[in-house]
Amino acid sequence: MKTAVVNLGKIITGDWRNPVANGDTIICDGGTIVQVGTADAARVEECDVVIDAAGAVAIPGLIDSHVHITFGDYTPRQKTVGFLESYVHGGVTTAITASEVHVPGRPKDPAGVKALAVAASKSFQQWRPGGMRVHAGSVILEPGLTEADFDDLKAQGVWLAKAGFGAFATPYEYKPMIQWARARGMITTVHTGGSSIPGSSGIWAEHILALDPDVSFHVNGGPVAMPDEGFPRLVNESRVALQVCTAGNLRTTLWLSKLVREQEQFDRFLIATDTPTGSGIMPLGMLYTITHLASLADLPVEWAIAAATGNNARTYRLNSGFIAAGHDADLVVIDACSGGSKDDALAALTNGDIVAVSALVTDGVPRFVGRSRNTPEGIRKVRVARSSVVQDFSGGAH
Ligand SMILES: [Zn+2]
Repeated sequence: MKTAVVNLGKIITGDWRNPVANGDTIICDGGTIVQVGTADAARVEECDVVIDAAGAVAIPGLIDSHVHITFGDYTPRQKTVGFLESYVHGGVTTAITASEVHVPGRPKDPAGVKALAVAASKSFQQWRPGGMRVHAGSVILEPGLTEADFDDLKAQGVWLAKAGFGAFATPYEYKPMIQWARARGMITTVHTGGSSIPGSSGIWAEHILALDPDVSFHVNGGPVAMPDEGFPRLVNESRVALQVCTAGNLRTTLWLSKLVREQEQFDRFLIATDTPTGSGIMPLGMLYTITHLASLADLPVEWAIAAATGNNARTYRLNSGFIAAGHDADLVVIDACSGGSKDDALAALTNGDIVAVSALVTDGVPRFVGRSRNTPEGIRKVRVARSSVVQDFSGGAH
């Protein structure tokens, strides 16, 4: 299937160093972006679906790198079905598991944590809720796992490992397992801040520095922040990616965005939601953190979008997260909401407003065009200009 998006007012690339692409057209062929910028009429003509963006803005599909998935499109913590599909209507095209820690009665023995990660990983490989790509299956590090277990996990396709909820006496005891996982090319993540589960200990900067994982999960607090002294230390004394989450401490999120810019460490700044949790289900969580940073921390809005897209993609080695030829065909058309004070999406986000998600494409397939179920209507009429496939693209929003 070939999909074209034409008449774009602006194309945001997801790369904060080079945040805007020239031109007004994006062409996807199969699951890949093949052209960004201008396309001749014949190239657009051969597409199966042409979306007229009417001057709205394209951004890469948002990558939420901290989602509490379990199995299916169900969250046991909030007893709700369909939340992942609902996040698609908030512009999220990729979810990365924060480990399947919410599975009721989850196993804690080595065989059990391995089986859980393998089953979760494989169950989402062929299934896209609402069109979303879900990277599931993060092994929860528990006492008793051996180096050979990490060989097994890697052979089964598990590439994520999570420290923070294991039955260890101190966080320092995760260190050998994190090294085993990293040695096998796995992305290692560590819970940061106060405990989110009763009885689990706080994990602060000194622990993260000693463990040296790939990602400090919810470094701003999940949901309770570590002491302030730890933030400059993590920026200056480590290479760890620093993930800020919507369901955490907003003050430290805003402050950290300034620290990483001052120290020229912006590649390490990632946006995620840490939901569903006790904080709820937040389909617009990624957009809220983008607008909080753009309106309250003086972060250029294109950089805030990059932290939610390209920065996550680089850290997790995904091929999505950028609007550029050769990358996954995951993109979102956003617009200022009708009735607001701003007339384009970027000005609205900088003003502190949520934006309309007016169209969304994943894997080269339009999932809805015109109106998201979860945002107000945009001021521009984004529509399917031409289609030769049998589908109405309303996505259930009427
Ligand atoms: Zn979490």
